[in-house]
Amino acid sequence: MSKLIIANWKSQKNIKEAGIWLDIIKAERDSFEEGVQVVVAPPYPLLPAVAEKAEEAGIEIAVQDISPFEAGSYTGAVSAYNLSGLSVKYAIVGHSERRLYFHETHADVARKVTQAIEHGITPVVCVDHDFVYEQAAVIDEEYLEQCIIAYEPAGAIGTGLNEDIGRVRRVSKRVRDAFGDDIRMLYGGSVTEENIGEYMLVTDGALVATASLKPEQFVKLVQAVK
Ligand code: PEP
Repeated sequence: MSKLIIANWKSQKNIKEAGIWLDIIKAERDSFEEGVQVVVAPPYPLLPAVAEKAEEAGIEIAVQDISPFEAGSYTGAVSAYNLSGLSVKYAIVGHSERRLYFHETHADVARKVTQAIEHGITPVVCVDHDFVYEQAAVIDEEYLEQCIIAYEPAGAIGTGLNEDIGRVRRVSKRVRDAFGDDIRMLYGGSVTEENIGEYMLVTDGALVATASLKPEQFVKLVQAVK
């Protein structure tokens, strides 16, 4: 079973730093286990430059958010249509920071899921354990199993307090119950090269922010995925 490791840069990095990161990943690509797929989610302005280099670095592209609307008069929004031709394969939606600072609701996230899927992009839907069912309930039923779920407990994000593995296992049952038996689930929250191995036993991959920023550290993390 393949593992997906998504590096979420949030609003860190400029174009020069992005280039250095990609060069290092490219140089180390052959040391990654077969079946481990690396994905990077850069800030939007860096997307075209990253997309240009991603293929030769052997990695795929995600966006950190996507508009809930079709292309149109929505100033500041980036629609799924805008992304055509940029090799974007995944869209992270409903990250806890979007829910907290931008007041996104489960319904907003569901609209983003629709937009992504209707434009051939796989949504990576971030959920915490206490609203798995509520989030699933507002997503169009035919799209549920096309999502990838990222279980991201708020208390574990950026704190160094990574989630107990037993809890991740229990939440993965809830996620399957809500989204479908064949759903792919990632874990996110203070993942490091030291702890990623245990999460790979019970999930299909990881969403990584802090430990993805320094390329050397991220390479070690990916090398630890078996
Ligand atoms: C995140 O913000 O999605 C995340 C997983 O952060 P970190 O890796 O820094 O805990």
